[in-house]
Amino acid sequence: MKKSHSPGGMPRREFLRDSTGLAAFAAAGPIPALVKAAEQPAAARKTIGIQVGAVSFVDEGTETVLDLLQERGAVDTIYLTTFTYGRGLAGRQVPGQPFPDHGRQESDEKTFHGGNYAIPHPEFYDDTVLKQTRAPEHGALDIVATVLPAAKKRGMRVFSSIEDVFRSDIPGVKEVAEVDLQGRKTSTLCLYHPDVRAFWTGLATDLCKSYEIDGILFFNERNGPLLNALGASHAQSIASSRVTCFCEHHQRAAREQGIDYERARQAYQKLDQFIQRALKDQRPSDGYFVEFWRLLVEWPEIIAWDRLFDLAKHQVLAEVNAAVKRARPGLQVGFHIEHVNSFNPLFRATRSYADLATKADFLKVVVYNNCGGERYVNFIRNVGSTVFRDVPKEEILRFNNHLLNYGEEAALDQLATTGLSPDYVFRETKRALAGVEGKCLVLPGIDIGIPTGKASRKASPEDTYDAVTAALKAGADGLILSRKYSEMQLSNLSAAGRAVRDLQARG
Ligand SMILES: [Zn+2]
Repeated sequence: MKKSHSPGGMPRREFLRDSTGLAAFAAAGPIPALVKAAEQPAAARKTIGIQVGAVSFVDEGTETVLDLLQERGAVDTIYLTTFTYGRGLAGRQVPGQPFPDHGRQESDEKTFHGGNYAIPHPEFYDDTVLKQTRAPEHGALDIVATVLPAAKKRGMRVFSSIEDVFRSDIPGVKEVAEVDLQGRKTSTLCLYHPDVRAFWTGLATDLCKSYEIDGILFFNERNGPLLNALGASHAQSIASSRVTCFCEHHQRAAREQGIDYERARQAYQKLDQFIQRALKDQRPSDGYFVEFWRLLVEWPEIIAWDRLFDLAKHQVLAEVNAAVKRARPGLQVGFHIEHVNSFNPLFRATRSYADLATKADFLKVVVYNNCGGERYVNFIRNVGSTVFRDVPKEEILRFNNHLLNYGEEAALDQLATTGLSPDYVFRETKRALAGVEGKCLVLPGIDIGIPTGKASRKASPEDTYDAVTAALKAGADGLILSRKYSEMQLSNLSAAGRAVRDLQARG
């Protein structure tokens, strides 16, 4: 197959020599860490952001952490984890992974709980059963009230990160939980439930009215039932019998959209049967892909129900954006765009950057290249065990690379240890910039020490330097160092800052 060289892509090494992006970066003005942020026109500032959870400020001290982020990472914006029950954005290093070279070297596995690390003000939660979400692990601490004045004093901006990750023992969660294909309640929240909608707009309004923050970064990226059924993501198992959501609120939304609920349920049962047979190696006489495609043709409700899920998600994004603008006009809203968007063409087809750009001021586009290798392998293995079971997995990988306009990435058996290249970061940043058509900013999420398997790629200072350079040379409006400071080695953080400053100096 002929190698693709579209305008969005470059051969692996060439982007480092390209000066177009560098010139654009330099033209944007001095980096905030070198010149006081307040002296720069806001529009010209490249955001150099980092995601940080409350525990890091508690463990290491607010001023110490901010000093270090400014000096080492050239950071000018804090994406402060304010609401989540997940360990991806909050808490110390995840259990089982080595601690980085800062912070408490002790697992918080037993004390981590999650929730709202600011103080929820009850008047914003009148219309939702989700009233008791205060995170208990840091006592009376209000992380936003603590970090905000210290950051402002330095000219740094602070965004509250809020993430759609819950746990089932939170009061109200059971009442608003999704219902799976078998009729069982789950621990994920139904985005068609009015109380859930009221919670997200209430939380965003509360944070924007109660604190002088600069805006909200909203992590609201669960997959719909089709992708969950296929296991077409990176970290998940194939869960075709547990797909969601079939609750009464979804049924109502389906009626409004003219979708037959009963047919949709039957369609997902058919899909479940197809998946289960594939996993047992029971090949359909026409082959796996043809059988899958026939299901989509005969049961259009499969796609329709998946779109219904996405519709709710996009409505919530739009409602949060509107709530923030109502609370304080001028505040910014950004959305985290999940990693799977970069390596799964089916997911990619459901995400239009042009459309997302109408609902956000910026998009945090995940381009995690180190853990990306391992995650991409998992995705190829999942689709290679069902829909594309007739195709050798190495060939699926190479074919998929062409579909996605990836360059020369490693072979399947090496990809987890090699990771994806900086060229991947460059290409995905370019694609996002082209997609949003200038209607919103693009801030790629850069992988610094995101946990991976024992033999898989770990971030090094060189990787980090190259990934940051690639994103900025592609023309990004800034970047967000991810996932959280409490899993990053300081040498990698320094490499990120060095890349930012080197581009500035060379400009
Ligand atoms: Zn539902």
